[in-house]
Amino acid sequence: MIKVRNLSKHFGNLVVLKDISADIRKGEVISVIGPSGTGKSTFLRCLNLLETPTGGTIFIDDVPLLDKRTNVSKLRQKMGMVFQSFNLYAHLSVIENLTIGPVKLLGKQRAEADAKAMELLKVVGLAEKAGSFPDELSGGQKQRVAIARCMAMDPEILLFDEPTSALDPTMVSEVLAVIRRLSREGMTMIIVTHEMEFARNISDRIFYMDEGVIYEEGTPQQIFDHPQKEKTRAFIHRVRSLNFHISSSNYDLYAMQGEMELFCEKHMLPKKVTGYVVHITEELLGIQTDFSDIKLNLSYTEKEGDVQLVCESAGIPENPLKTELLEEDIALKLILGRCKSVNYTYTDGKNVLALRIKGES
Ligand code: ADP
Ligand code: MG
Repeated sequence: MIKVRNLSKHFGNLVVLKDISADIRKGEVISVIGPSGTGKSTFLRCLNLLETPTGGTIFIDDVPLLDKRTNVSKLRQKMGMVFQSFNLYAHLSVIENLTIGPVKLLGKQRAEADAKAMELLKVVGLAEKAGSFPDELSGGQKQRVAIARCMAMDPEILLFDEPTSALDPTMVSEVLAVIRRLSREGMTMIIVTHEMEFARNISDRIFYMDEGVIYEEGTPQQIFDHPQKEKTRAFIHRVRSLNFHISSSNYDLYAMQGEMELFCEKHMLPKKVTGYVVHITEELLGIQTDFSDIKLNLSYTEKEGDVQLVCESAGIPENPLKTELLEEDIALKLILGRCKSVNYTYTDGKNVLALRIKGES
């Protein structure tokens, strides 16, 4: 359905897309992941000609998009794009947001457009809000309206550019659920996202973008569990973990614990494990003496079912979990009792403690 060959995009001297080639079949769901600034948005914007590519070719259903003789506006209508920032018309009601395109651009009758709009609002769970205005809606509701508005144009391909990045964490799942439903209905979709669990569950293939190219592509299993290239591996590890940096003793423990709970929830870890993570973090920080430079990393590997907490702290070599102290120190006992293993090293001037936290078994 979409064939991209040697696509490049330069902004002045800045080469954002070097050489992108890809084939996307009808009904496929592709998630595009990668560090920020690697051209993911630019790639999507080139696909629907919001940006003019510098070089290369794009075919949509075998029609060359960049050929001067191609009716671009017609091809573009085949593609809907959902942005991070919703882009709803603030002065129009929800239903008017959905009907303005079909009436003005597709020449549909008002009644037909209204009926279709109501049907789509039902699909995204917002039929009740047809007469509301965008500023009366939550972020998650606005984004669901934006998706319905795209669908109202009968697109064959949907492009999503970080559709949940601007949302409160509590509203992410309602938007992802709508996208998931569209994928079940066979919609062809390209989704730029930071929601890795979602990408893993929904996608047929993952494109990892870096260095101006699709640096590595594969099934979710290939990319998330067995990435072949170093940069992919480093990225996957980074995004599948949670990082904190503490630079004084006035750190916000509660905010940190809150984020950790969300992380555990996202990975569907048992409540007990979440509790261990939160407690161990508190105890571990409680026995630190130098707070000038502490890094905490919480990660979860699905394969081993392992939750690991790594604490790096600057200072003279000193293992805060010395076993000699164990007898009299309750905090240490608590930590060790909840870990499968504890590994201490002193590397690059840092005390590094790696704790593997006990799971269900
Ligand atoms: P991503 O979506 O992966 O974060 P983008 O595609 O937004 O990356 O941007 C890639 C690079 O291109 C960035 O360095 C960005 O500053 C630059 N860029 C994007 N759009 C423009 C533009 N219109 N003019 C100049 N530079 C741009
Ligand atoms: Mg972007």
